[in-house]
Parts: sequence; structure tokens; C-alpha cells
Amino acid sequence: EICHSVLEENRKIYNELQELKGNIRVYCRIRPFSSSKAGKPTIVDYIGENGELIVTNPSKPGKESHRTFKFNKVFGPASSQEEVYLDTQPLIRSILDGFNVCIFAYGQTGSGKTYTMSGPNGSSKENLGVNYRALNDLFHISQTRKNTITYEVDVQMVEIYNEQVRDLLTNNDGPQKKLDIRNASQQNGLVVPNANVRSVSSTADVVELMTHGMMNRAASATAMNERSSRSHSVLSVRVRGTDLKTNASLNGCLHLVDLAGSERVNRSEVTGDRLKEAQHINKSLAALGDVISALSQKSSHIPYRNSKLTQLLQTSLGGRAKTLMFVQMNPDVESFSETLSTLKFAERASSVELGSARSNK
Ligand code: ADP
Repeated sequence: EICHSVLEENRKIYNELQELKGNIRVYCRIRPFSSSKAGKPTIVDYIGENGELIVTNPSKPGKESHRTFKFNKVFGPASSQEEVYLDTQPLIRSILDGFNVCIFAYGQTGSGKTYTMSGPNGSSKENLGVNYRALNDLFHISQTRKNTITYEVDVQMVEIYNEQVRDLLTNNDGPQKKLDIRNASQQNGLVVPNANVRSVSSTADVVELMTHGMMNRAASATAMNERSSRSHSVLSVRVRGTDLKTNASLNGCLHLVDLAGSERVNRSEVTGDRLKEAQHINKSLAALGDVISALSQKSSHIPYRNSKLTQLLQTSLGGRAKTLMFVQMNPDVESFSETLSTLKFAERASSVELGSARSNK
């Protein structure tokens, strides 16, 4: 009977890994209307069970304002944090089997990136985001394996601001250290040589580090949202397992990336420093899009060198690594053109075939 259950468990894991074979998944998440916009018209026309999404601009009917997209999954405005995480969980499990995983949140400021990744400020348990759930699972599953494999977990947290990489796990006093990432790809899953590495043994440890890191994260006001974060933050979790019987080791790595807002420059009416920030953000998001799109097309050249973000994550993008991108969108009409460009970016990154629906464009 024990044998049978082991077989079943293995089959389940095998099926899940087969499922993940494409290596790049794109999940679209539509945030609910904020209370001030409740009852206003929405641009979401149709959400299909198989990841179809039709958006339309009710205030400007016409060909250009009606588009069909297809992603691996679309989460509607009523979807819970738990539902979203359930579809992420198999990836997290694979880290303990020695895979590298990158999870990104992409979208304009206010579209729910931080909500999906971390949860709202001071979250209750049911509102915790992917970060916390993932780490909880990592510790939980490693505990269940403790008689066969011991795991060590350590964490780094950096941000990329104006194409400079900074350590977020430095002490509060003094300026943040700028880091050189030239040798990042030789670091065996570790993101940045010279950045602080903290060993952690519980989710509480990680939460403490993340809180510290978030306080260090550069944030500056824009006309659109004064809390808007103009930097990419990368939380990296390295897992090193040792088989107690054979002493064999296995390494897995998880990168959780909350990207800077993808809104186009004119939308925020920016000049000077803000303009420079926006240009850096656009450049690095475009480079990320190019890398993911080249990977999904199985292209022979992957342009990792074009941004700090893609250089940093090189060993965890492509190859056996698995990538998940949450594409966050606002359902409101005012955001239509911004949302359309977000969805087009995601469509390029996605390896999902649109099939016959493509003719709807
Ligand atoms: P971003 O990180 O993309 O700038 P946030 O995650 O900060 O956006 O979301 C903006 C606001 O919308 C926050 O107040 C957040 O709590 C709220 N919000 C975003 N997504 C959801 C959601 N799925 N359910 C409820 N509130 C959400």
C-alpha cells in the first residue's frame, strides 16, 4: 500500500512537471475596480476558462478597440489570492527538486503587482501574496522531507534603479551599496556577488528581511501615483539540499520580481529625473520582453546582455528554468490604451498559440 501511494505521488509530480514543460507561462490577473470606480463600464468583454481574454473599449467602438488574447490562464477581478497561488504551487515545489524559477509581476502602476506578489499592506492571512505563500510552502515541504534530504535556504534582495543594482539587505544607516554584477552568471543561482546573503529557516525570518528590504527600496513620486515604485525589486531564494544517504546535493533557486510600473512616459507627464527613470524602466522592460519572447520562440540567440535585469537573472531564465509572468491589468476604460500595450507585451512573451481567435484582431 505504501508503494502504491509513493507511485501515485510520483506520477502526480511527473504530470505536473510535464505540464510545465513549456517553461514560460503567462497568467493575466485583472484587478477589481477601486471603490471610487465601482459601477463604471469595464473593458473586460469575455474571460474564457482556457485563458482567452477579450477586451473592448466601450467608449470608442471600432476595430482597434476590440482584441482577443490568449494566456495560460486569466484570473478575473473576483479571484482570491489563494486561487492565484494554487496555480503557482507546482512551480514552487519544483525548486526543492533542483529547478530554478522566476516569477515576475508586470503591469502599470496601480494594476496590482504588489498585491499579487506580496499582498496588501498589513495583510491578513487570506490576503497574503505569492511571496509569502511560496516561502511557506518551501519550508513546509522541506520539513516533510527532513528524513531524506536536509535543506539550507538563503536569501538576497536587490533592486535595480536606473540600471544600477543595489543591495536592499544592508543596514539602514549609510547609502545602499551599488553592486557589480559582471560575474553574476557564475554564482550558481546566487544573484549578485557581494550582496548580502542571509540564511533563513522560517517564513517569519524571510518576512523580517523583506520588510527591511522594502523600507530600503527607492520610491519616488510621480503624477500618477505618489507611492509608485520606480525600481525593480528582486527577492532571490536559494535552496541547497543534501541527500542524507548519498550526500548528493541539489540546488534550486526562486526569484520573485516586482517590476517597476510599465506605464509610458507621457502618461505620467514627467521631466528631468523622472524622465530618466522612466527611460531606464522602459529599456529594461523591453529587454526582458525580448529575452522572454526569444526563449518562447526557442531562438538560438537570447539577448541577455541588454539590461541589468536580464543579466542578473540569466541563469534562471531559459534552459531548465521555469518562468511565470503575472500580467496585471486594470479593468477601467481610462486605462484602455495602457492596458492594451500591457497585454500586447504579454502576448509577445507568451508561447501560447492564439489559434483561430487570432483572426479577431
Ligand atoms: P502596483 O504594485 O501594480 O502599483 P498595487 O498592488 O499597489 O499596484 O495595487 C494598487 C491598489 O489596488 C492597492 O490599494 C491594492 O491593495 C489594490 N488592489 C490591487 N489588486 C487587488 C485585488 N486583486 N484585490 C483587491 N485590491 C487590489
